[in-house]
Amino acid sequence: MASATSKHVRNSTQPLIDIARLSQNLYEEWCAEFSPFSYERKGLIEVYQTEKAFQSAVSHARTATATGLPMEPLNRSELHQLEPHVDFNVIGGIHVLTDTHVYPSGLMNSLLQEALKMGVQIIESEALSFTTYQGKIVELRTREQSLEADLFILAAGAWSRDLSSSMSLKIPMIAGRGYSITYPLAVCPLAHPVYLGEASVAFTPMNGDKVRVGGTMEIVAKNTPPQMSRVRGILNSARRFLPHCHFPEPKLEDVWYGYRPCSADGLPYIGRSATWQNLVIATGHSMIGISLGPATGKLVAEVAEETTPTVNLTPFNPNRFHKTS
Ligand SMILES: Cc1cc2nc3c(=O)[nH]c(=O)nc-3n(C[C@H](O)[C@H](O)[C@H](O)COP(=O)(O)OP(=O)(O)OC[C@H]3O[C@@H](n4cnc5c(N)ncnc54)[C@H](O)[C@@H]3O)c2cc1C
Repeated sequence: MASATSKHVRNSTQPLIDIARLSQNLYEEWCAEFSPFSYERKGLIEVYQTEKAFQSAVSHARTATATGLPMEPLNRSELHQLEPHVDFNVIGGIHVLTDTHVYPSGLMNSLLQEALKMGVQIIESEALSFTTYQGKIVELRTREQSLEADLFILAAGAWSRDLSSSMSLKIPMIAGRGYSITYPLAVCPLAHPVYLGEASVAFTPMNGDKVRVGGTMEIVAKNTPPQMSRVRGILNSARRFLPHCHFPEPKLEDVWYGYRPCSADGLPYIGRSATWQNLVIATGHSMIGISLGPATGKLVAEVAEETTPTVNLTPFNPNRFHKTS
């Protein structure tokens, strides 16, 4: 709550733009080098049903355009030209021109193949705790074995806080659960990713044959069973904005849900731990971890190698909430 201020939002804008731009440039490089992962440069369309929300979005679009992120207001006919195969129940939209999107499973498969080609050894096991000695981590214990290393990277998403407590670290973070349902594209043949402004629900056409509908930010303990009422909430919004598309209610086992690692101030934690010299922290990416992933990887490598980071890491300092006494 202490971070939910206009000042903090203003101060966070440029650091987030810088890291997002770096990430997007890296995605472009990966696209040229890696096996395809359905990376598409189509922008994103936000749509609005109420005049108040639309006008507020138009004003936000002006500010964003002035900051170097071009956004164009769309009336209903301009929206129809961009999305001729669906019929929106909205008064207008905003085209966020520079957004790109990926098919996450395609991305992860592609990264896995590249890592294996580079000789990376992947050990699939649950990390349980760490042994520390004289300011350093000396050992990681997993279910099956103990592993020694020169350098450790804590990147366990919403679980980073639980894991860090075994090495007396406090990383302020909560898990924000979200849900998504993936339909054949024919259910809702969108050409662009679309965000329902008033409902905070996102549609992403993926891989040329699917459309993913996702949303909600549920603050619950990670062992709380998933709630079908949340899924119904997403689908009801989808039906309100796209009344001519038929979104059947899925079975619970066909619903995906995941935990966003939400930091205390909305900025990721990237950098070396002040407590353990050989620990680099890379977590807390909240709602934009896919967007910021490539840049985070590069920055982690730079921190590990002690070279000058490509973007200023001060706003992302993982020790920023440590109390100094
Ligand atoms: C519904 C929804 C929609 C989203 N949409 C977007 C979007 O459009 N754009 C975007 O940029 N981001 C989006 N996000 C956010 C994005 O998914 C996260 O920011 C991102 O996944 C965080 O990456 P991470 O690697 O830090 O954590 P995770 O992706 O959660 O990965 C952490 C990994 O660590 C593993 N792990 C945890 N504990 C241990 C342990 N003890 N031992 C071993 N392994 C462990 C977990 O199994 C997991 O594989 C969305 C999230 C949700 C839920």
